[in-house]
Amino acid sequence: MTIPSTLVRLPAVVAMLAVAAAHGWAQQPRYSLLIKGGHVIDARNGINGVRDVAIADGKIAAVAADIPAADAARVVDAQGLYVTPGLIDIHAHVFWGTEPNAQYGGGFSSVPPDTHSFRSGQTTLVDVGGSGWRTFPQFKAQVIDRSRTRVLAFLNIVGEGMRGGPVEQNLADMDPKLTAQRARQFRDLIVGVKVAHYSGPEWDPVIRAVEAGRQADIPVMVDFGGNNPPLSLDTLLNTHLRPGDILTHMYAHVRGRQPIVNEQGQVEPFVLAARKRGVIFDVGHGGGSFLFRQAVPATQQGFYPDVISTDLHIGSQNAGMKDILNVMSKLLNLGMPLADVIAANTSRAAEVIKRTDLGHLGVGAEADVAVLAVRSGEFGFVDSGGGKMAGTQKLECELTVKGGQVVWDLNGRSRPLWTEVTR
Ligand SMILES: [Zn+2]
Repeated sequence: MTIPSTLVRLPAVVAMLAVAAAHGWAQQPRYSLLIKGGHVIDARNGINGVRDVAIADGKIAAVAADIPAADAARVVDAQGLYVTPGLIDIHAHVFWGTEPNAQYGGGFSSVPPDTHSFRSGQTTLVDVGGSGWRTFPQFKAQVIDRSRTRVLAFLNIVGEGMRGGPVEQNLADMDPKLTAQRARQFRDLIVGVKVAHYSGPEWDPVIRAVEAGRQADIPVMVDFGGNNPPLSLDTLLNTHLRPGDILTHMYAHVRGRQPIVNEQGQVEPFVLAARKRGVIFDVGHGGGSFLFRQAVPATQQGFYPDVISTDLHIGSQNAGMKDILNVMSKLLNLGMPLADVIAANTSRAAEVIKRTDLGHLGVGAEADVAVLAVRSGEFGFVDSGGGKMAGTQKLECELTVKGGQVVWDLNGRSRPLWTEVTR
């Protein structure tokens, strides 16, 4: 099938205006934007086929087989492309700032959200643990309120957040009650509790994070490992975590944490049992937490992720992780069906953070949309051990819409030709 290369619909607008004039209608097109002819994948609404998606007043206005181009002010030709809800990344580090030694909690290790999000189809980034109950107001003022990307947060169980060193080892600063109170105070922004980086021998950080999650009715995400002596992954998954709580870095093999695939190459039975009881398994790729040595045998045994997050930070975006589409492409090349890959970072991610208003294209939903290409060719994917896997498919973002506004447009698909732009 040939894809028309003309991407502009000025003639359509002119035709529509003529029709409107003939009927004496107000000269306001019904839809601000129409994404036409793409293959829509919207798991929540059971759609996996070619549809048009119309947007008005920042909301999804219609999803149907054939919506007339004349009804829209702007039309994007999406033939041969996939149209999905805006991607949600449930594990990112975006509490950026210039405080020395503040690491992921207002320092130099985090990434400003808008510099990374839209170009890879993401409309929602969840910062996990950058801020704690004490530093959340600073995070909100400094990043959340200033970003066009929707930024949500998992509060660190450490009140000071993820500022590295002794700050994150201070049991006296891990208060479930105050963490839950802050979460309830900002219910629309705080969607979980994070526990990470603790190197002591106690379970207290996990127990307190789960208690905070219970009090605020939000999930807990655990970055496990580093405890000295190591703590049991089985006990974490099957005793401490509740259904709906999240193990991130699922394909990691780090010091002090048992991997999910054992030395015999099998996914541990206790890991399968944890999934069965509702524990969520998240990729959380990062700079050191995705190994093909784990991911290949796990996926061959059908152990795919629930959610495919990035663990975005300054280091990971310039290493094997790169961006969410690169990580999703790895799973695609490991045999995870495209519809499942998309669902993982749209409807499923929304369920996991209990924000089912997001991650779908139902009429009335916020118009957050990604238009993605699946490129074919010879590609290489690098893991955090420095090894490469060859692949033949790669996702690329053509267009991102946030709240009805085009915020990323790789090939100018929503734009008129320069010869048609008046001064
Ligand atoms: Zn992380």
